[in-house]
Amino acid sequence: MAKKKAAGQANRKSSARASGFDKAAAQQRVKDIWPILKKTYPDAKVALNFTNPLELLVATILSAQCTDVRVNIVTKDLFEKYRSASDWAGADVREIEEDIRTTGFFRNKAQNIKGACTRIAKEFGGKVPQTMEELTALPGVGRKTANVVLGNAFGTPGIVCDTHVIRLSRRLALSDNSDPVKLEFDLAEIVPKKDWTLFSHLLVFHGRNLCKARKPDCPACPIAAFCPAAHRPDLW
Ligand code: SF4
Repeated sequence: MAKKKAAGQANRKSSARASGFDKAAAQQRVKDIWPILKKTYPDAKVALNFTNPLELLVATILSAQCTDVRVNIVTKDLFEKYRSASDWAGADVREIEEDIRTTGFFRNKAQNIKGACTRIAKEFGGKVPQTMEELTALPGVGRKTANVVLGNAFGTPGIVCDTHVIRLSRRLALSDNSDPVKLEFDLAEIVPKKDWTLFSHLLVFHGRNLCKARKPDCPACPIAAFCPAAHRPDLW
């Protein structure tokens, strides 16, 4: 019954959106909401704590299916214990599993962290690589993780398509794709490159604060005037 209801809602959403995607309008919408979101969230930034690219890479791998708050609690001690790629590479994977257990999916994450750090230690002299191609060739690193690292540790613009960015981009009709990679490329065409990283943070902050998954607070939303989904539950 619940599945039928969900399928019905999905169909209504897609037919409500089936009227054709207007890229020029989406681009204008980005221009309209950009200054408002910047003013609303002046401190928007990555929520994971880190002091170097390796820490951010590990924290981002740990953040899959886990809250940033939990990851920050775990990494506080973790980054004291493992200070370099070689430290992770040389550690027993069982010990890593125990150290990161509370972040969930700890077996996969431990394998990926050890695997990625082994390659970083061997092939990159212990330094996290700085290109999308090299990063996504590491175990457990997809475009989302790579963009987090590129944008926040290296200052290379990156669009991070997490759950908030996907949801808000759909509601704001910035793309008609919900596949993260297609959506990333759509956003890359309508958001100025220099703003990619901050634009992602602004959408995440707005998603956490007002435009929540189940019930967005449209009456309180500062960008409601530009949002096609404002007060339209059929588009949520
Ligand atoms: S108007 Fe509503 S749906 Fe649109 S961005 Fe604001 S909170 Fe989200």
